[in-house]
Amino acid sequence: MSKFLIEKFKKLKPYVPGEQPKERKFVKLNTNESPFPPSKKAIELAKKELNRLNLYPDPDCRELLSVTAKKLGVSEENIIFTNGSDDILNFAFMAYCNDNTPAIYPEISYGFYPVFADINNVPKKEIPLKEDFSIDINDYIDQNGTIIIANPNAPTGLTVSVNEIEELLKANRNRIVVIDEAYVDFGGESAIGLIKKYDNLLVTQTFSKSRSMAGARLGYGVASKEIINDLMRIKYSINPYNINRMTAAAGYGSIMDDEYFVNNCKTIIKNREYATNELIKLGFVTTESKANFIFAKHDKIDGKELYLKLKENGVLVRHFDKDRISSYVRITVGSLSEMQILIQTIKNILEKAL
Ligand code: PMP
Repeated sequence: MSKFLIEKFKKLKPYVPGEQPKERKFVKLNTNESPFPPSKKAIELAKKELNRLNLYPDPDCRELLSVTAKKLGVSEENIIFTNGSDDILNFAFMAYCNDNTPAIYPEISYGFYPVFADINNVPKKEIPLKEDFSIDINDYIDQNGTIIIANPNAPTGLTVSVNEIEELLKANRNRIVVIDEAYVDFGGESAIGLIKKYDNLLVTQTFSKSRSMAGARLGYGVASKEIINDLMRIKYSINPYNINRMTAAAGYGSIMDDEYFVNNCKTIIKNREYATNELIKLGFVTTESKANFIFAKHDKIDGKELYLKLKENGVLVRHFDKDRISSYVRITVGSLSEMQILIQTIKNILEKAL
């Protein structure tokens, strides 16, 4: 840290992304990426944009906007595109939280929420999960602040129903509710249908997971026209060109090739069920994840130890040194062969440990 850094950033604890090791090849199951490449159509259209990199991209991503609006069944004025969904989540903290409007989110959830709160000088209110890690929507009903809920939640993969979200929206008519649907395509239920009825709802989604485009950085928010206008004010005050040409074209290609996306989601769900069952046979306890990851613990081996042993054996998963979840590991669901390697490696580790 230099002596020039201003005070408010000195205390900042930046988000710690999952490891991206270069030194050796791992079966990489630690950052919830897709094991499948982007759609061929996405690659083809992105390549064409290389010749046009002398020109700024369209800040409104109009072609992508048009097909996405049709696909989601909303108007174009209900969508904003951003550089990954992290970007829009940050915009939401900037736009809808301040000293009098804290950010309210589950105590165990996406690790970026407290960082967005801190960088925007926003007070945080972290609400404990129930004993079984589920979210009790009643805990959020009488809250005075902006509510942010990941659905499915991370790293548990547990969901709340759209009916529960509607209850929350009704009870907090004068407060913004942000539903982060980064993992919704793997078995969750989207709240996008509620944006027509509730002007206090912002739903965020991403191309990073189910559309195999984590490296392209493309996310979006869906909400009332007024909320989208608020967020556009912020986007246009920071970087209107936050989506580059290749990413916008790849996004368009991905939406046009929806069958590929649908089949990949089905495969991930099948692989999740396979790996979960195998883990249970080996004595693991898992949550009922509706995401592209499994959250699991074993009473004979601690989460940290399992993470380290797996890493030693070439399989990378994620461990969180956090109260209540330190005995767990989060395992991204990959291809079937990756899941088979994972299970065999865990079998070997358990045989030696027990
Ligand atoms: N929300 C949740 C719950 C996540 O786990 C992630 C990915 N780490 C994101 C949002 C952001 O993903 P991206 O910026 O790649 O869209």
